[in-house]
Amino acid sequence: MSDRTSLIVGNWKMHRDHLEAIQLLQRLAYHLSEEDTDEQEVVVCPPFTALRSLQTLIQSDRMAVALGAQDCHPEIEGAYTGDVSVPMLARLDVRYVVVGHSERRLFHEEDDALVARKARAALSGELRAIVCVGEGEQARESGRAEEVVLAQLRGSLDGVEPREDADLVIAYEPVWAIGTGRTATPTDAQDMAVAIRTALAERYGSERAADVRILYGGSVKPANIRSLMTLADVDGVLVGGASLSAEDFALIVGHRRAI
Ligand code: PEP
Repeated sequence: MSDRTSLIVGNWKMHRDHLEAIQLLQRLAYHLSEEDTDEQEVVVCPPFTALRSLQTLIQSDRMAVALGAQDCHPEIEGAYTGDVSVPMLARLDVRYVVVGHSERRLFHEEDDALVARKARAALSGELRAIVCVGEGEQARESGRAEEVVLAQLRGSLDGVEPREDADLVIAYEPVWAIGTGRTATPTDAQDMAVAIRTALAERYGSERAADVRILYGGSVKPANIRSLMTLADVDGVLVGGASLSAEDFALIVGHRRAI
């Protein structure tokens, strides 16, 4: 058994304006029990426009939920129209930032080198980086899933040095499972998590690698959360669609309780 703290992250993507975000978080908090947030971390990643409102709400209601951002720019400041920097996020009490999500890789043509720069910026700015990797359908079907994921991992961690306090998180998200209702089997998720941890150990040493939390993402729902959270090397989940329902996300967070 590891002593890694479980991590449940909701990625709201481009959904919910700041008023709707307040309602969603309030609803979620209503459904969460102390036990749910006692021994695991719960994080929500709203659009940038809702971060300030949720920061205020979390502080005023002393919610045991942390804020994450869905992306960041690798530079601290500059002429980068439309971008948001790590220090700006940190000022809003954002604790985590997702980098290299497959939708950023696809729609913004982000490559591993850029993802690595963002991850380095996050760690230098005292944020925790959630680095996403995952194979496409073709790679899975041709038996090249592990090769593709490990190559992505190496590229996305170029120059990234985690410290001891578990500031690096890897999210394994098979692209064919995101938003499709299809999930990796528990065996495939566990096998890939082991492959990722082995690669991390080769790079950082086994002690550091043991601190890195590995999440699974891809159509996580209340119905499949338990089978994922019992896997030895899967330390949590990154949830898209189901995190937009306070009730479903609360069931995912409360997976240890009877449903
Ligand atoms: C995601 O956006 O990272 C994700 C896993 O989405 P979904 O849960 O909807 O598949």
